[in-house]
Amino acid sequence: MRYEVEYLDPEPLAALQLQRLRRIAELAYANVEHYRRAFAAAGITPADLKTLDDLKALAFTDKETLRQNYPFGMFAVPMADVQEIHASSGTTGKPTVVAYTRADLKVWSEVMARSLACAGATDRDIVQNSYGYGLFTGGLGVHYGAIELGATIVPTSAGNTRRQLQLMQDFGSTVLTCTPSYTIYMAEEARAHGIDPRRTTVRIGVLGAEPWSEGMRREIENAWDMKAYNIYGLSEIIGPGVAQECVGQCGMHLWADHFYPEVIDPHTGKEVADGEDGMLVLTTLSKEATPFLRYATKDIVSMTRQVCPACGRTSPRISRIKGRTDDMLIIRGVNVFPSQIEGVLTQIEGTEPHYQIIVSREGALDNIEVQVEVNERFFSDEVRLLESLGARIGREIETVLGIGVAVKLVEPKTIARSEGKAQRVIDTRKL
Ligand code: AMP
Ligand code: ZN
Repeated sequence: MRYEVEYLDPEPLAALQLQRLRRIAELAYANVEHYRRAFAAAGITPADLKTLDDLKALAFTDKETLRQNYPFGMFAVPMADVQEIHASSGTTGKPTVVAYTRADLKVWSEVMARSLACAGATDRDIVQNSYGYGLFTGGLGVHYGAIELGATIVPTSAGNTRRQLQLMQDFGSTVLTCTPSYTIYMAEEARAHGIDPRRTTVRIGVLGAEPWSEGMRREIENAWDMKAYNIYGLSEIIGPGVAQECVGQCGMHLWADHFYPEVIDPHTGKEVADGEDGMLVLTTLSKEATPFLRYATKDIVSMTRQVCPACGRTSPRISRIKGRTDDMLIIRGVNVFPSQIEGVLTQIEGTEPHYQIIVSREGALDNIEVQVEVNERFFSDEVRLLESLGARIGREIETVLGIGVAVKLVEPKTIARSEGKAQRVIDTRKL
């Protein structure tokens, strides 16, 4: 399935974006107190949005804005027009609430269908959807998209892994949608029950909702004998279906006809050049129930507007999520991204892709302990081997981070598994 809008030249794309922006900005301005004040603070009204650049006058909106307006303060339409409400639990404070009109659900179905198609899925695929159904947007978003695409959807939701594996074999599922860490867990469970995941009919994984690395991609593709594609989204913008890798696996195509992207230097607030890292800021161009203007995702990416060498789409591509402006750990004054540690671990032979980073403070000194599962054979071999592996991991992490860490090697299946997002960092410091 080919969606022409993904191949638009820059000028017609910008014209479409501006036209949509003006409608949504009017809607937000007329109905949401927060945006009325944001426009007033910038000294403009939606009528002053003559180009896309004029949007830059507005301050960012973020999760905190949603919390302050809990539960329905960000809604731009009457409740009678709201068809579905989602909420994310959030790590602190109140949940963030987002809503969809009937038209919003159509857009969501469309962008998710486009994402599945971009990864190579067609109406002949059987999509086993192991994202959690419920208030989390992952499950239902993929569900709507698969239906829109005309594929067959198997709504297993997350969990009950043995039954998932049984159904996968019996139904002949060809596309698996879930978090990357869950695919690894499922593969382990499969092997433990005498099923070879490489021999299942699954050919494509559409995986996201949590950070992962190229190393993890290789592990997953190898474990399942499938192609693993990255999908990005967040509830505030629509849920899954904001950006998706194509068969080239060279960045995620962002559906810029519905979501207008900026990549911003978090220190200066200015846009960075293509290819440079910054915070992704998104403006919803068609969402009616909870429109977001200049939403600060806190996700760090780089972006390119070059035509995709693999598929020819012109839609901008964002990199993997390289970290968050807010989950960045500061350890003894050094900025540490968990993804850097993962990057090292996936390079080292003998480690499993299950790890946890424990940050603690003794007196005034921060400590990191990296717990990592290693291959069973290290535990049956001499202790010396285990020790030298631990020392090597420690050295390599230190080279990348510039600070020393303690490494604790643990047996397979020691670290708690998750059916949704894996918890990679446990920070026990009282900061
Ligand atoms: P939620 O709104 O609860 O679905 O969480 C959205 C957040 O999950 C995003 O802001 C990202 O930080 C993270 N996320 C979603 N997809 C990905 C992905 N493919 N890679 C890394 N992080 C992701
Ligand atoms: Zn492409």
